[in-house]
Amino acid sequence: MENSSATRPLSQKVIGILGGMSNQATGEYYRMLNERLNQEYGAWDNGEIVIVSVNFGNIEYFVRRNQWDEARAYLAEKIDRLERAGADVIGCVSNTMHRVVAPIMAGRTTPFIHIADSTGEVIQKAGITRVGLLGTIATMQSDELRAHLKERFGIEVLAPSDADQKVVDRIIFDELVRRDLRAASKAEYLRVAAALRAEGAQGVILGCTEIFLLIGQSDLPGFPVFDTTALHVGALASFALS
Ligand code: GLU
Repeated sequence: MENSSATRPLSQKVIGILGGMSNQATGEYYRMLNERLNQEYGAWDNGEIVIVSVNFGNIEYFVRRNQWDEARAYLAEKIDRLERAGADVIGCVSNTMHRVVAPIMAGRTTPFIHIADSTGEVIQKAGITRVGLLGTIATMQSDELRAHLKERFGIEVLAPSDADQKVVDRIIFDELVRRDLRAASKAEYLRVAAALRAEGAQGVILGCTEIFLLIGQSDLPGFPVFDTTALHVGALASFALS
């Protein structure tokens, strides 16, 4: 094995990760980013990554009480830290918290990779215009996300029924963010995905960054699965390599 560059240190962009939402998703971002970058660079090279990992207890508190102003203030200070640490690009590991992080980043100069853009681009390329969405209740009910996908990519979002949204949300908070992976919960997710398909969805977005731990494309043959974690990691890695 040989070094991919004679010039050291290798000049590369620093990826800033706003993490902790959850720590399980954040660990996967770190692992997958390094894996992707190593695939491109070869040899021993991987990413230069700064992670600011927040306390998920604060996030859970704000999200479940709809305290978005408090969440915004909490995360704005964490983004300051990422910028001070030299991040050349920022990604937030939570679909849910994009609701406050995207408006914060709109007022800053550091490039921001929105998780819905990474996902929307791929769905659009697949020629899909109606897609089901699994995520937290805040995500599944988000008008911002719906408008974002519609306006930028012409994609219509179908959310599960209210009762199913409660099931999907409960499994995220009680199980997935702790990497507690249960066969019964997997069956519930597959049932909800099948219901979305029956309603006319042409595919499904795993719109919460822990869901891929539980279900994936191999569980839903013939029904395209869009995993926001993998797609976001891919977009961040491409930016770092650009
Ligand atoms: N990881 C999550 C997401 O992608 C959910 C946890 C949170 O509420 O931030 O939405």
